[in-house]
Amino acid sequence: MSAPELTRSGLPGAPATTASLDAPHIVVVGGGVSGLAAAHRLAGAGRGATLTLLEASNRLGGKVTSAQLGPHRIDLGAESLMVRGPALGELLAELDLEQNLLAPAHAGIHVYARGALRELPPGILGALPDGLLPLLRAGILSPAGLARATFDLLAPRSSIDPDCSVAALIGRRLGRQALERLFDPLLGTIYGAPCSELSLHACAPQIAALAREHRSLTRGLLAAKRPPGAGAGSPLRTLAGGLESLVRHLHERIAGDVEVRLGAAVTEIARERDGLRLTLQRDGARAPESVHADHVVIATPAPEAARLLAAIAPEASAELRAIRYTRALSVALRFDPDALARQPTSSGFLVPEQAGRTLGACTYLSAKWPHIGADGELVMRCSLSRRALLRADEQSDREVVEALLGDLRAIIGLRAAPRQSLVARFAAATPIYAPAHHERIARVRAQLDAIPELALAGAAYEGIGVPQCIASGRAAAEQTLARLHQRGRSLRQGAGNPR
Ligand SMILES: Cc1cc2nc3c(=O)[nH]c(=O)nc-3n(C[C@H](O)[C@H](O)[C@H](O)COP(=O)(O)OP(=O)(O)OC[C@H]3O[C@@H](n4cnc5c(N)ncnc54)[C@H](O)[C@@H]3O)c2cc1C
Repeated sequence: MSAPELTRSGLPGAPATTASLDAPHIVVVGGGVSGLAAAHRLAGAGRGATLTLLEASNRLGGKVTSAQLGPHRIDLGAESLMVRGPALGELLAELDLEQNLLAPAHAGIHVYARGALRELPPGILGALPDGLLPLLRAGILSPAGLARATFDLLAPRSSIDPDCSVAALIGRRLGRQALERLFDPLLGTIYGAPCSELSLHACAPQIAALAREHRSLTRGLLAAKRPPGAGAGSPLRTLAGGLESLVRHLHERIAGDVEVRLGAAVTEIARERDGLRLTLQRDGARAPESVHADHVVIATPAPEAARLLAAIAPEASAELRAIRYTRALSVALRFDPDALARQPTSSGFLVPEQAGRTLGACTYLSAKWPHIGADGELVMRCSLSRRALLRADEQSDREVVEALLGDLRAIIGLRAAPRQSLVARFAAATPIYAPAHHERIARVRAQLDAIPELALAGAAYEGIGVPQCIASGRAAAEQTLARLHQRGRSLRQGAGNPR
């Protein structure tokens, strides 16, 4: 590791002396991007600690997962990175991966509305175009829907509570069509839930800010200053080799400093006099194992975190148990180059729930990412509508693919059978940030202040995107280091195996 050794004097406000206690043992539970980012930060900044990462499954990466589709390496979980905030850039720099970032060739997106694919006008918020005129030209809303949206210009200011949903504000200001044809497909694809179940503040914070600052959302959009560089290109990126390459590089970097144990599910965490005791069940082992930790970072999905906290933080556990998760199903398809009469001119399209289709969204991977399209094949990734997901559990992969192909024939005129298809099912895909989500997480964090040996990281808290999970993992690592220093635990070079 190239990062310098950190001593107590290296932390803000820490005394210049170092304690000479034995090396603390830090355990990260969960080997998705959040846990890996935490372990990497600890390995870089917390030298001298003994580090262990425990992952229940037999692979690292969690919802960052790829598979081979013919000659193409395809991401079946997360596939693009929204380049905002410093954490992703810092991590990529530390891993020497900045040069591997790839920009999309096509950033535009279509919406299936009024029986045809219609281009979504570019908007500063990614969810609402810069005014009503581009919307009119796009034809996504009917004249009546557009007329309803203009009420926003005249209506009095809307008050928004912490527990306001996206649907409550947008429905009130812009009407049902704008909600169903713009916001629900856009946010619903990301969060997997209808706008009526999504927190305005957590899922559309820019729109919440506009609603606070301006009487009319439309006027607010027109007045909003574009951030420097906005409009100059898409903020989305991927990595050469797919996002799983990030997982591989993280694993390689931490390998010398962190003991990574796969097939090791933590089943219980208990407090003891000088730290925490974890019970873990290893794949194939008869008896559970017990491991002492001076500090634990829990980087699992919320239901699992709730289970692990049940004995030591029952209130926080109950709060986390209340966070619901959506299901997801991704289908990657590979076709002959002439499977479509015309080559795609956008990165893909969204299908509103009201269309009653199996297909919820389609990404033209070969058009979006030049490295995937290099050999001329048409490569797509489709996800299911929410209504189709409800019945997908009872369907075979083949039935799901057939239903999707029917929609692709109807919507984009697909005229060939796929050369190959891959289906990936995610039982607990995405945490639903329900109204008052921020308040819930603030309560959880306050309750966990009583257990200074514990930190939380993951998609359930301050953002579901991979960059936010990386930020969350790094923040949990920083909190861990600061807390160990406060407790007088030295992080200087030291040996010592987990007790
Ligand atoms: C289909 C899909 C598409 C997505 N697309 C994008 C995208 O394009 N861009 C984007 O930024 N984000 C995307 N996301 C979101 C993003 O992938 C996830 O939010 C993120 O990867 C979650 O990372 P995590 O480490 O917090 O959790 P996870 O990936 O869920 O990892 C948690 C890990 O903890 C392990 N674990 C659980 N319980 C235990 C236990 N008791 N003991 C030990 N280990 C345990 C699990 O096995 C898992 O490996 C997508 C998500 C899905 C499902």
